Amino acid sequence: MTPAGANGDGPLRLNIDLQALTANWTWFRDHSHGAVTGAAVKANGYGLGADAVVTALAGAGCREFFVTTFEEAARLLPLADGCTVYALHGLRPGEKPIPGIVPVLNSQEQIARWREAAPGGKCDVMVDTGMNRLGIGWREFERGMLDGLNLGTLHSHLASADEPDNPLNDIQQRRFQEIVASVRPPRAALAGSAGICRGPDFAFGMTRPGLGIYGGVPHPMAAGCLQQVVRPQAEVLIVRHVAAGDIVGYNGMWRAEVGTRVAVLNIGYADGYRRGFSNEGQVLVGGERRPVIGRISMDLTTVDIGNAHVDEGDWVEVEYDLPAVSAVSGQSQYELLTGLGHRYQRRYI
Ligand SMILES: *Cc1c(COP(=O)(O)O)cnc(C)c1O
Repeated sequence: MTPAGANGDGPLRLNIDLQALTANWTWFRDHSHGAVTGAAVKANGYGLGADAVVTALAGAGCREFFVTTFEEAARLLPLADGCTVYALHGLRPGEKPIPGIVPVLNSQEQIARWREAAPGGKCDVMVDTGMNRLGIGWREFERGMLDGLNLGTLHSHLASADEPDNPLNDIQQRRFQEIVASVRPPRAALAGSAGICRGPDFAFGMTRPGLGIYGGVPHPMAAGCLQQVVRPQAEVLIVRHVAAGDIVGYNGMWRAEVGTRVAVLNIGYADGYRRGFSNEGQVLVGGERRPVIGRISMDLTTVDIGNAHVDEGDWVEVEYDLPAVSAVSGQSQYELLTGLGHRYQRRYI
């Protein structure tokens, strides 16, 4: 446990292991069957800080970055030479093109808007192959809709890639394959992290992993292959003794059977450490796993520290191995990342 206050910063840290991040991206690249491998860095790099994530991934050889809106994309500019940022939500009404940002156009309306706003401007197009979210529907899609567009990549997206046995995956793959055979775009892309795990038929010319880069396990095939990237650390605010029979926290969700030493940590649901961790989470205290007890508060979490040597001002690590804590808390791995919030001091190591 590191003494606190060394740099005068706040009592909550997020250690972000950029080597683990780039190793994870490299794993997806090596399993993309020769396809160009981009990275989804939307939602501020899944909560970790998009600038740091993009810089690290560009250093590892990633050249194509996916965010949602032009606004989100503009915050990443200027990018290193040879890198491109794509806006997955396309061009909104009234929005102006921004040099260096390539929209992924999702409807005939968006295509018409782009033709008007940026004639001949480079764009991607999304076709929907069964998810009914973004993209021109596969039933209505016709090759001629793309005539005259300066098309880079034709995209589609899988609805259930993380369900290995869901037949929709192969159905979507076949629908997309047919459209790609008819359009013959310069490049095609279907797979995110989980889709990459489905093998060569899903790789096409480009892949767009997200979750797995950040240490989430998207599919059983990737289990054990990816490294933990994010480690929240919280400061101990106080250590107290709870008498046998007393409760801890709101609504007395935990009651001491015997006298218990309890550390109160500076982390709570406002930091993404949500109520699902009440009586369920774990904290690494002096190399030992100790249980979270009682209800998670907005800003505080209580831990049974047993006999561990812990003092006010010590730092402890909150267990945050994504597949494991997702199972425990009932939150998805995506929510666990993107919910981390603004109060952490993000430290890139
Ligand atoms: C977010 C996103 C991805 C990345 O998906 P992960 O499941 O996080 O790997 C890929 N493609 C599109 C269109 C996305 O929106």
